[in-house]
Amino acid sequence: MTLPRPRIAILGGGPGGYEAALVAAQLGAEVTVVDADGLGGSCVLTDCVPSKTLIESSATMTSLGRSASLGLQLEDGQNPDLSVDAPALNARIKALAAAQSHDIIEHVEAEGVRIIQNRGRLADPRTIVVEGVPGPAGRVQADVLLIATGATPRVLPDAVPDGERILTWRQIYDLPELPEDLIVVGSGVTGAEFASAYQALGSNVSLVSSRERVLPHEDKDAAVVIEEVFRRRGMNVISKSRAEAVHRKGDSVVVTLADGQAIKGSHCLMTVGMIPSTSGIGLGNAGVRRDSRGFVEVDRVSRTSLPGVYAAGDCTGVLLLASVAAMQGRIAMWHALGEAVQPIRLSHVASTIFTDPEIASVGVSQAAVDRGEVTARVMKQPLATNPRAKMGGFRDGFVKIFARPGTGLVLGGVVVAPRASELILPIAIAIDQNLTVEQIAHTFSVYPSLSGSITEAARSVMEFGTDAII
Ligand SMILES: Cc1cc2nc3c(=O)[nH]c(=O)nc-3n(C[C@H](O)[C@H](O)[C@H](O)COP(=O)(O)OP(=O)(O)OC[C@H]3O[C@@H](n4cnc5c(N)ncnc54)[C@H](O)[C@@H]3O)c2cc1C
Repeated sequence: MTLPRPRIAILGGGPGGYEAALVAAQLGAEVTVVDADGLGGSCVLTDCVPSKTLIESSATMTSLGRSASLGLQLEDGQNPDLSVDAPALNARIKALAAAQSHDIIEHVEAEGVRIIQNRGRLADPRTIVVEGVPGPAGRVQADVLLIATGATPRVLPDAVPDGERILTWRQIYDLPELPEDLIVVGSGVTGAEFASAYQALGSNVSLVSSRERVLPHEDKDAAVVIEEVFRRRGMNVISKSRAEAVHRKGDSVVVTLADGQAIKGSHCLMTVGMIPSTSGIGLGNAGVRRDSRGFVEVDRVSRTSLPGVYAAGDCTGVLLLASVAAMQGRIAMWHALGEAVQPIRLSHVASTIFTDPEIASVGVSQAAVDRGEVTARVMKQPLATNPRAKMGGFRDGFVKIFARPGTGLVLGGVVVAPRASELILPIAIAIDQNLTVEQIAHTFSVYPSLSGSITEAARSVMEFGTDAII
């Protein structure tokens, strides 16, 4: 007897949606993705991919700017005078994002997935209605639904973006020129990344932070390094100051702080968080439970409160990362289609803040250790002593490893370094595979290499004994 192919309908084609579609199709399901903006979602079209492309250019600018300190000069004895061709930079960013979305569409279609480019909403727990499409084609019936509608930038009532001077990060790539005096409101991950990138590209940057330090939710030692680097490079970091309002005055913007102070700039970039895209898509009618902030409540295998309806990605608010969205989507499909599935393990998620230097982290945090929630031995190895870092002229950063006292099991790590996003993998593998600091310490690292600091940090943990706790 041949069983009918299970039908899967997915609302939203970002990493949460399209990665799920690929898994479901490979498992033999009949899959439809309804997406309004293009596969890859905000991740590819407006958020992660464009920002990382911008940061590649800004990192190159930083490297070239360091050339004189590395003994390189133009023949006439002048330092290279680099400038940014903003239209070309932005055109490259947008073209790369569009091409990446196109590649995803080709890949997903090659697996037999049907893509409907339009808005959709839930009519009931088994039906997505495609907006503006009359008749049967406008309804997608399924055995299982996945909601992966993502999130959008939060807008403050007194700082409404106009797309010209007051901007969200989704509008910044339409600027015809590099912002001369950019005020970034919000010093979380997104704010810090854009502030770092635009400063490197040549903008005068002011960073308005409502907290005592930038990146308030990240490893404190790492945040201190980044703030020092920002200030040393001339960024105006305005701490403990809440932005109340942002107004446009001709060709400039004025940011009014809670203490009445006014900061003037040419542009203002608002990075004050995300709102889940979960309103007006029929979740309430269908009975899908959301939390007080509107995020869809899910368990560790991506089930919502409604049987047969799963959710993945930013709309769940679990961890707003593309890698997490993709994993939640895959897990949902493995679970729905009867495969053996490991519930998501958030303690194993590696993430990076793409400032210069980058901050990458995985596993337990220093804050959890300090609060006494985790007992760990902590060892921090400064990058300044690493021979490869000296050769490259890098002095800001460190490698930090957390290990369980007694057994030496690796519990977490933080790397602050150029390309820390690449360097964090061995620590992530160690956590995932239950390796000990001893095993890392005995692993050959290349000499000279930045990754040598990881094995050295592991050796230091051993040297001082894994029994000791600090
Ligand atoms: C500036 C920035 C930089 C980032 N950088 C990184 C990074 O370096 N690494 C990382 O891991 N993460 C990064 N992130 C986070 C990452 O972009 C998100 O976690 C990821 O996009 C979440 O994927 P998703 O599938 O949940 O949603 P999205 O990527 O937001 O996709 C949702 C899709 O659903 C569609 N949709 C919504 N509602 C409907 C509807 N009613 N009908 C049809 N379609 C609908 C949208 O059009 C969109 O295509 C960054 C985020 C920002 C803001």
